[in-house]
Amino acid sequence: MTEKTKGMATGNIHTVAFEDAFGSPNPPLYDTTTFKFGSTQDLLDVIEGRRDGFLYTRYGMNPTIRNLEEKLANLDGAESSLIFSSGMAALSSLFLSHGRRGIACIGDAYGGTLELLFSQLPGLGIQTHKIRLDEIDRLDALLSSGVGLVFFESPTNPRLEVINIQKISKIAHARNALVAVDNTFATPVNQRPLAHGADIVMQSATKYLGGHSDLTAGVLSADDRLLLPIRPWRKNLGQMIAPEIAHKLSRSLATLVVRVEKHNANAMAVAKYLHDHEMVGQVFYPGLPSSPNHVLAADQMTGFGGMVSFEINAPARFSSAFIESLKVFSLAPSLGGVESLATQPVTTSHHDMTPDERMACGISDTMIRLSVGIEDERDLISDLDQALAKASISCQGSNE
Ligand code: PLP
Repeated sequence: MTEKTKGMATGNIHTVAFEDAFGSPNPPLYDTTTFKFGSTQDLLDVIEGRRDGFLYTRYGMNPTIRNLEEKLANLDGAESSLIFSSGMAALSSLFLSHGRRGIACIGDAYGGTLELLFSQLPGLGIQTHKIRLDEIDRLDALLSSGVGLVFFESPTNPRLEVINIQKISKIAHARNALVAVDNTFATPVNQRPLAHGADIVMQSATKYLGGHSDLTAGVLSADDRLLLPIRPWRKNLGQMIAPEIAHKLSRSLATLVVRVEKHNANAMAVAKYLHDHEMVGQVFYPGLPSSPNHVLAADQMTGFGGMVSFEINAPARFSSAFIESLKVFSLAPSLGGVESLATQPVTTSHHDMTPDERMACGISDTMIRLSVGIEDERDLISDLDQALAKASISCQGSNE
């Protein structure tokens, strides 16, 4: 079985760059910053690339890091991967290396990404442009003016809009621009952007790849020629992950496929339950046949993910009452862990926007975003049920 024919679950368990000398099926942790050499010539052979070897962990030249990157490349269906100390570290190096000709960001994105793109990078002379989903027609003109990088998330946060990777990639490639996709919400289990024509895929491994809300990391995967200019930014901005975290992430990847399958199944059940509930308004989940994103999602994704957003049919204060009544779901930002979480975008990810800006993005004050975990489906549904009933009672009480 070659690397290319390995299934994803098999690859996540068995892919390594280096077999362990003592036969451990789980490659050991190389918790070191540097490596010893027998001679100056030996050291020079490694530094000057005549011999493959390890040198200094911040450069990525550490077996634990290299094993993890091999697994990640297999997972993303890429030639290679680079691991970073966080998702934002990965995005910073991506934008600083490939964004010099300007960056077009399509649709909504994580708040930290928006701050980097629109408050920080312009100060360094990098021009950044926001394109709403209903303005995709503007993209071609923007790219013809020389913008070199198109970036977007799919599905987006928090409305779970699905963006057509193949279509955007065709438009971008015709204008000699690169396409980078933040695949954090989908994970490679549900969507592989490189297979749809994107050039670079990014994930905050803090979310589903880590999967247990206990590590922070990020990854970029692409052809070697595209990763080459990113490497010196990672090295000299000091964005390398610690070997202990790399080891922990490698272990998490072994269970990624089964975890994501359970996230998908639970989220679908939660979305269907919410869709049929009288207290609930619009449900945002690309797996629901009623979703305007469903046809594209069914074409582009193999599963619909663990994130579900919805609106409560009641004044905004009842969304808080609902969240505070939950017992299995916890009120917390972030996503992608085994445990279920609930947030209101208005108080967390989109808190820094003005009400008008939120309205323009279709984010209402009653919107709730769920990161559906891998607990028992019936416990999740009955938790939502009791919390909606409580919100409903207080709603009736306040109307009297
Ligand atoms: N991209 C998305 C979609 C995110 O949700 C986040 C964090 O929430 C990031 C990037 C940044 O990742 P990190 O927190 O690992 O830096």
